[in-house]
Amino acid sequence: MWPSKFDYVRAGSVDEALASAADGGKFLAGGHSLLPAMKLRLDAPEQLIDIGRIPELQSISANGGLTIGAAATHDAIATSADVQAMCGALASACGQVGDQGVRNFGTLGGNIAHADPASDPPTVLVAVGANVNIQGADGARSVGAEDFFLGLFETALDDGELITSVSVPDVSDHQSAYIKFPHPASRYAIVGVCVALKMDGAVCDHAHVAVGGATLRAVRCAGAEAALAGTTLDDAAVNAAAEAVKSDIAEDLIGDIAYPEAYRQQMAGVFLKRAIAAAQG
Ligand SMILES: Cc1cc2nc3c(=O)[nH]c(=O)nc-3n(C[C@H](O)[C@H](O)[C@H](O)COP(=O)(O)OP(=O)(O)OC[C@H]3O[C@@H](n4cnc5c(N)ncnc54)[C@H](O)[C@@H]3O)c2cc1C
Repeated sequence: MWPSKFDYVRAGSVDEALASAADGGKFLAGGHSLLPAMKLRLDAPEQLIDIGRIPELQSISANGGLTIGAAATHDAIATSADVQAMCGALASACGQVGDQGVRNFGTLGGNIAHADPASDPPTVLVAVGANVNIQGADGARSVGAEDFFLGLFETALDDGELITSVSVPDVSDHQSAYIKFPHPASRYAIVGVCVALKMDGAVCDHAHVAVGGATLRAVRCAGAEAALAGTTLDDAAVNAAAEAVKSDIAEDLIGDIAYPEAYRQQMAGVFLKRAIAAAQG
């Protein structure tokens, strides 16, 4: 299968990429979603602007929190000592993306711009309250992850806007985990759950919970968070959270013939329990 004809430019800097985008076209990062879509003729941009080799988009820096360049690969994030230390759930999620080949090419910016509901990193970004940093012809802006993902393959990005980085808070004082039920062929998430638990001795001071894969977009689960806060994470509290999470995601559920909505909803509760157990080590 061949894509339609397109022009190719390689941008050396963010400014060059934005200048090229003024003429239309699409940014090309790892190409692991865009190129298959073009080959299937689901997309036919007249110009590809390669942002994969812009140094400033590839860095991962730690200064109170993490700033992860949009073109950082899943493998770079999964193996970063800073990410592992400050947001272990994100390192884990990126380490569970596809296979090693996908992780070597796929980027965080491309992943979240594509906004496939079965993606892994968005669930962690929504759970921990990350911010997506965006630059366009009219300047820079920052959007909370919860407001960035609008729906199926739909984000808050405007035409020609470039994600430059993602700011991730330091949650090293939380116990966190990302657990997923991977599709047996693609490894995409049928259900993915992230928890980050702030403990005060034996009591959970507060919890961050988000679910993806089962839903149109990663969903922050306030009911499950409330069911865990102020408890010792005993069986009653964990069971209550597993019930609450089903209501939290009820309006956003997706399904298919192999994994229908009701099945995914049930599995979200099961995987929430597993994520809590994994976070507690
Ligand atoms: C076989 C296979 C298995 C996979 N399994 C998983 C999985 O288990 N979990 C998972 O989460 N993902 C999975 N993926 C997706 C993978 O994670 C890639 O990250 C994802 O394909 C997009 O990243 P990319 O860098 O390849 O983006 P590209 O394909 O280059 O771009 C995707 C879209 O994002 C836009 N874009 C790219 N970068 C930017 C930017 N900085 N600013 C604005 N727009 C931008 C592009 O214009 C395009 O529209 C899988 C992919 C494949 C091929």
